[in-house]
Amino acid sequence: VTTFSLERQDARLLDAADPLAGFRDRFARDDPGIIYLDGNSLGMLPLATAERLTRLIRDEWGGGLIRSWDHWIDLPVQAGDELGRSLLGAAEGQVLVTDSTTVNLYKLSRAALGARPGRRVIVTDDDNFPTDRYVLAGVAGGQDAELRVIRTDMDQGVTAADVRAAVAGDTALVSLSHVAYRSGALADMPEITRIAHDAGALMLWDLCHSVGSVPVDLDGDGADLAVGCTYKYVNAGPGAPAFLYVRRDLQDQLRQPVQGWFSQQDMFAMGPAYQPVPGIRRFFAGTPDVLGIAAVEEGARLLGEAGIGRLRDKGMRLTGYLIELADAWLAPLGFALASPRDPGRRGSHVCLRHSEAARICQALARAGVLADFRAPDRLRLGPAPITTSFAEVWDALDMVRQITENQVYQEFPAAAGAPAG
Ligand SMILES: *Cc1c(COP(=O)(O)O)cnc(C)c1O
Repeated sequence: VTTFSLERQDARLLDAADPLAGFRDRFARDDPGIIYLDGNSLGMLPLATAERLTRLIRDEWGGGLIRSWDHWIDLPVQAGDELGRSLLGAAEGQVLVTDSTTVNLYKLSRAALGARPGRRVIVTDDDNFPTDRYVLAGVAGGQDAELRVIRTDMDQGVTAADVRAAVAGDTALVSLSHVAYRSGALADMPEITRIAHDAGALMLWDLCHSVGSVPVDLDGDGADLAVGCTYKYVNAGPGAPAFLYVRRDLQDQLRQPVQGWFSQQDMFAMGPAYQPVPGIRRFFAGTPDVLGIAAVEEGARLLGEAGIGRLRDKGMRLTGYLIELADAWLAPLGFALASPRDPGRRGSHVCLRHSEAARICQALARAGVLADFRAPDRLRLGPAPITTSFAEVWDALDMVRQITENQVYQEFPAAAGAPAG
């Protein structure tokens, strides 16, 4: 059933009625010729962030020098609380902004394994993001544990039934992505968390493609642990630090393996033995990246102002619109949807399968439409709800149609896609 008209003028009407349209002007748009469908890989630059970082560098670092640590020291928890309040459904004192997603995965998965003595299995799935699979394999290998890998449908994502069949009395930890990096499939967080708990295991969610695109209710869903990056939908910039979440009542039961001085009680006593501080700060390693964390705080505030409910609503409509255009224009050209069709079962990005996806993606970039290629044969389109208009989706899909119909992609050599998930 078509619910959107496919005329370009109607895309303009959808934009005119969009309550979030005004947020587009809060981002740097130096090249008006670019249509950016990669905000799920590297979000755009909020103007407020550019101002905040300039002030931070000139005044707080340049002027305040080391004295500025008196308030910088609170930023990782303050930015974490902002993420928790605006986007993650986490009460304060449970989210810390520090390190990368990869490092946080290591810290939390090792800690979880240590907290379930006698249980030697970590469960994940083969559709999980590469760094997750590699880190979990490394943790399992180093701890004489087993990594049990669910086989997941690449386009539909992991199901609660898959997880139920994989967990048992030997399972210490289940670790999965909430929104799949390739297909955008959205996992059933409350149900899967319950299944892990019923087996006596802890649950670790990777929220890299969920935070800022779908509402997350960590406290409400009883999640134990979570990690996620901030340079995607949170728009905090390249390599900005990630966050980690540890449910309050678990914090003092867990011991993370990177026993750095920032997690030490009375750190400036410089004492002889490691004694971790209570609370969320025990998940620190070393000195946090102040510039990056300030950018996380700005990004989270901006999304909070837009409202995650409105962002979710627009994300479902943008991707629904994209899929209808693809059905009408691109299916006859050999494209197939490689994401869930039900908007309630996907995040804010969509994959289209095509044998020439890699070269089509390069031809799109030359035409000013920035998207991703994802192995094996997917064109991944991420219309981030805070920065993307319906007219841009129309123009981008029209460009895919022209490039494919006229075989413009033949001008490009077959090659791999760009980095970053
Ligand atoms: C982007 C992404 C990562 C990235 O991890 P880094 O440590 O920031 O490189 C990890 N997991 C998932 C699911 C991702 O989408």
